[in-house]
Amino acid sequence: KSAVYMEGVSYKYPDSDTPALRDINFEADFGELVLLVGPSGCGKSTFARIFNGLIPNFYGGELTGRISIAGLDPRKTPTPKFAGLVGFMFQNPENQLFFNSVERELAFGLENLGIPPEEIRRRVDETLKEYGLEELRHRSPFELSGGQQQKVALASVMVMKPRILILDEPTANLDPLSAMRTLGIVAKKTREYNMLTILIEHRLEIALQFATRVVVMLDGRIVADGDPLDTVSKA
Ligand code: ADP
Ligand code: ADP
Repeated sequence: KSAVYMEGVSYKYPDSDTPALRDINFEADFGELVLLVGPSGCGKSTFARIFNGLIPNFYGGELTGRISIAGLDPRKTPTPKFAGLVGFMFQNPENQLFFNSVERELAFGLENLGIPPEEIRRRVDETLKEYGLEELRHRSPFELSGGQQQKVALASVMVMKPRILILDEPTANLDPLSAMRTLGIVAKKTREYNMLTILIEHRLEIALQFATRVVVMLDGRIVADGDPLDTVSKA
């Protein structure tokens, strides 16, 4: 059974006459790092919002077709049920930072899942180290640079060890070297935790080094799907 299965999936935002997604067929397994590409407005973020139930639970609208996200149908599942399962990083990190220290930011989700304090400390320490954030642990995320905020946002998603990881332009505020390093960690974790990672990323030259598969979207549809270099050269 696949990690994610979609068949004939279409979606319309509540106040819109044109569908943002049209007849999407998509199946993926744990361990894959799927790079999602296509012009602005083609539906990448919309597609990603199905994975954590924001569509339809938060955005509303009309979602049709067959959908299984690790066995869950977002139309029949309250959003909090996705919390331990699907990690999601938005384009603007400041929208997902809430606390007055980096350390609290990382611990919060784990506390919510009821993980014992001892393990929370261990996982937070380990993750801070991995993302080079140890020096910033007592700082307020709101005082950090855009790139540092992006790292904190990613670390606070990764510390949860989600089975499915959705990253919407996780390197937008990073310099090329940090971008390379961050996507390297993402690829390593995808293998190590056997996650399914869906990556929306404009830096193709970097992302293609790490993707195991590329999906090309155009006008709400998937128009190409396959091996990274083949798929990009055909699109
Ligand atoms: P991008 O093209 O980089 O995905 P946009 O600038 O299109 O980003 O969108 C930024 C935000 O505005 C997103 O959260 C998106 O959901 C929202 N948005 C985009 N288009 C519309 C729209 N037609 N109506 C309402 N919100 C929209
Ligand atoms: P991408 O991420 O590829 O830039 P989006 O998924 O943001 O594309 O947008 C797909 C389409 O859905 C666009 O036409 C956009 O204007 C529209 N859209 C995005 N967010 C919203 C929203 N919250 N409400 C209405 N329309 C939206």
